[in-house]
Amino acid sequence: MSTSLLHHSLLSRYLFVPFCLRLMASSSPAISSKVEDTADGNAAALASCIFCKIAASGGEKTNTNILYQDNDVVAFPDIKPAAKHHTLVISKQHVLNAKVLTSEHKALVQKMVDTGKKLMQEQGIELDDVRYGFHWPPFYSIGHLHLHVIAPVSEMSFLSKIIFKPNTWWFVTPDYVLSRL
Ligand SMILES: [Zn+2]
Ligand SMILES: [Zn+2]
Repeated sequence: MSTSLLHHSLLSRYLFVPFCLRLMASSSPAISSKVEDTADGNAAALASCIFCKIAASGGEKTNTNILYQDNDVVAFPDIKPAAKHHTLVISKQHVLNAKVLTSEHKALVQKMVDTGKKLMQEQGIELDDVRYGFHWPPFYSIGHLHLHVIAPVSEMSFLSKIIFKPNTWWFVTPDYVLSRL
């Protein structure tokens, strides 16, 4: 089997069901799988966006344990952790994904990373054993910008290491995202 075929079969088997899809399944109404390729998405997507709901209600309406929030970002645990510590840092504003970001979002991305680092540090985690990254379109299920912060990397399963493998065509590092802005 060629490498590209292998990648394709891995993708079709696993990557269309990433962990955050479970979050989508547990929320209602279901998020449309249709996504608009604009930074702000559209009104309909926003109204049904689970991450917007979490951000707007401070986690109350969604029973989410908010770890940190300010005017720009909100952080909470991933509903299906890939390791002992698995935090999502989302933009408070509805931004579709990392690919639609522009130079205006540079400070936001940096803040998302800094927030993730700070939260890990507060839990006494070695920062060199933390994985950071964004899904890269079209491989994501929640159409709202979110940074995955996962530690310890050494405890991640084989499958999780594939799903959250840095700088593949489905998952990219903050440095890569920043380099495009
Ligand atoms: Zn995700
Ligand atoms: Zn949203």
